[in-house]
Amino acid sequence: MAEARLARVIAAERIGPQARLLRLAMTGGELGFTGGQYIIVNTGIELEGGKLAKRAYSIVSSDAEQTEFQLAVRRIGQGPGSNFMHRIAVGAELPFSGPWGKFLPETTSGSRLVFATDTGITATLGLLRGRRFRELAGDTTVVWFVEADDYFIPASFAREWIQTEQVGFEIVAAPPVGDPERLPCARALRDRVLARRRTDWAYMAGDGALIYPLRDHLAGAGVPLERIRLEAFFNNPDRRVRS
Ligand SMILES: Cc1cc2nc3c(=O)[nH]c(=O)nc-3n(C[C@H](O)[C@H](O)[C@H](O)COP(=O)(O)OP(=O)(O)OC[C@H]3O[C@@H](n4cnc5c(N)ncnc54)[C@H](O)[C@@H]3O)c2cc1C
Repeated sequence: MAEARLARVIAAERIGPQARLLRLAMTGGELGFTGGQYIIVNTGIELEGGKLAKRAYSIVSSDAEQTEFQLAVRRIGQGPGSNFMHRIAVGAELPFSGPWGKFLPETTSGSRLVFATDTGITATLGLLRGRRFRELAGDTTVVWFVEADDYFIPASFAREWIQTEQVGFEIVAAPPVGDPERLPCARALRDRVLARRRTDWAYMAGDGALIYPLRDHLAGAGVPLERIRLEAFFNNPDRRVRS
């Protein structure tokens, strides 16, 4: 059983039609995360069958600050977790476990490809803003495959948060989740991006139905598997449940 921890919501801002940015302060001590990791929020909401709704949210702020941190959440239909995160009031306490995750910066420098789909941008922003990732020299190409500018975090926020000379950032329009054209489109994008650069390290987060096939392609093209980091937010073929 994971250790239960608490943070208080100290600010909340609507940053898009379906997007909310939350600032949280630890009620004691430090979070102790590395950029790229996530927490699991216990919403306290009982699902059918009696299980509690626990949902993962990636830390979008820099790991240079450990007593406060930020989460960005997109509302997904009537989903219990994302709607809870959109309802929770400033001043309320948020129970969670973590930090969790192996979406962590590499140990050597090199040319880096960072590919995010949809809400997966949060994990990549946390990674890119992290101290270790910034310290390691290396050209970085960030590609965000997303439906529309108002789908989630505004592009202007993302650009501002990751702005450094060594990071190139491109947003590419994606067909909606579930559209049969999504994978062919992502493949064409992959070929275009790979044709113009070398890839020593790859980080991919978001839709498992896209990032797993892309991982296999990169591995086939010679990028060692241990240099490819994945974080599937949904459609995860390896889905495990943690409590
Ligand atoms: C490691 C990890 C980190 C995550 N970080 C974030 C984050 O920083 N911000 C954030 O908003 N979400 C994040 N998520 C997704 C989040 O955990 C929930 O899945 C999401 O909020 C939906 O939960 P729900 O209870 O509202 O809906 P549910 O009823 O649980 O979900 C409804 C369905 O939507 C799918 N789904 C989840 N996200 C999407 C999406 N973007 N597009 C389409 N379908 C989706 C779910 O898999 C499910 O099939 C992360 C997930 C993982 C595994």
